[in-house]
Amino acid sequence: MSAIEPPLALLAELTHRCPLRCPYCSNPTELARAKDELTTAEWARVFREAAALGCLQLHLSGGEPTARRDIVEITAAAREAGLYSNLITAGVLLNAALMARLVEAGLDHVQLSVQDADEAGAERIGGMRGAQEKKRQAAALVRASGLPLTLNAVVHRQNLHNLPQLIDIALDWGAQRLEVAHVQYYGWALANRDALLPTRAQLDVATRLVEEARSAHRGRLVIDYVVPDYHAARPKACMGGWGRRFLAVSPMGEVLPCHAAKSIAGMRFPNIRDSSLEDAWTGSDAFNAFRGTAWMPPPCRGCAHAERDWGGCRCQAFALTGDAAATDPACALSPSHGLLAAAVAEAGEARFRYREFS
Ligand code: SF4
Ligand code: SF4
Repeated sequence: MSAIEPPLALLAELTHRCPLRCPYCSNPTELARAKDELTTAEWARVFREAAALGCLQLHLSGGEPTARRDIVEITAAAREAGLYSNLITAGVLLNAALMARLVEAGLDHVQLSVQDADEAGAERIGGMRGAQEKKRQAAALVRASGLPLTLNAVVHRQNLHNLPQLIDIALDWGAQRLEVAHVQYYGWALANRDALLPTRAQLDVATRLVEEARSAHRGRLVIDYVVPDYHAARPKACMGGWGRRFLAVSPMGEVLPCHAAKSIAGMRFPNIRDSSLEDAWTGSDAFNAFRGTAWMPPPCRGCAHAERDWGGCRCQAFALTGDAAATDPACALSPSHGLLAAAVAEAGEARFRYREFS
């Protein structure tokens, strides 16, 4: 294996707790309890070790990261470690006092989620009354603080018709960047796939609208947009390749190559409570299992795209074929590619199964 490069970014999943209950939440279907979460001191150690490894960016995520009482101390620890910190938040727990303390602690950027453009849709999808107004206020607080604001709109079958209004919200709320993020199907989203998968026609309209909005708002709003896997012919380079650019730490300290990696049954992951971050990154079986190209079966083995897409997503391969080492079915060369079209054809369920602590 060639020398292992340092990770660029760390996703710190501070907690699984969240006042919202989005049916596509990327959290695992078995959520961690508050008493099992890493302490402030443990997170500070993770951040120091990440910086020493060469990590530059830190995403403070969850669940809802501001549900942690020590979010200000955690943010200060990120600044002390020299990491660029991005708060990924639903915004419903932010207030002026907390915003001021986060800025004082050294927070660099805020990414705010929106579930839909209209209030009723947002409340239904997020499963929380009054959430949209709180989010609008949170956006105003971020803008007043001077921090850059990104809006993250997760789009799917039940809100894509509101994409023009979601773009308007990004402009009205003063975001510099809008991520139009199609749902990724593992965890809660896989459980709700029939209610979330968009049709081809919806996708084509969305792609055209994004192109038009990009040119209409050039210089004012950057729009990130990636075609969803279920309508693609080639997979994405998931996480930039397993164990190449990215690592995540779960609320209870598991070190993961991707925040969904725990969905791969039978894989064991190192824990920062009994491993250093460096040992987890360079030496653990979990990180080395799908690093590089040597593990690849045909048709990935020898494929000209192998070092571009790294065989796609291991979690999706496992979710759809039961084999985490299989070629991602998002690839048209995968023998399982037909599963995606079959899933799209079967979609159309209206009701959601909401995420909740069991
Ligand atoms: S996706 Fe929804 S439920 Fe999950 S953490 Fe984000 S806001 Fe909370
Ligand atoms: S066969 Fe594998 S490496 Fe080639 S394009 Fe498909 S997923 Fe990528």
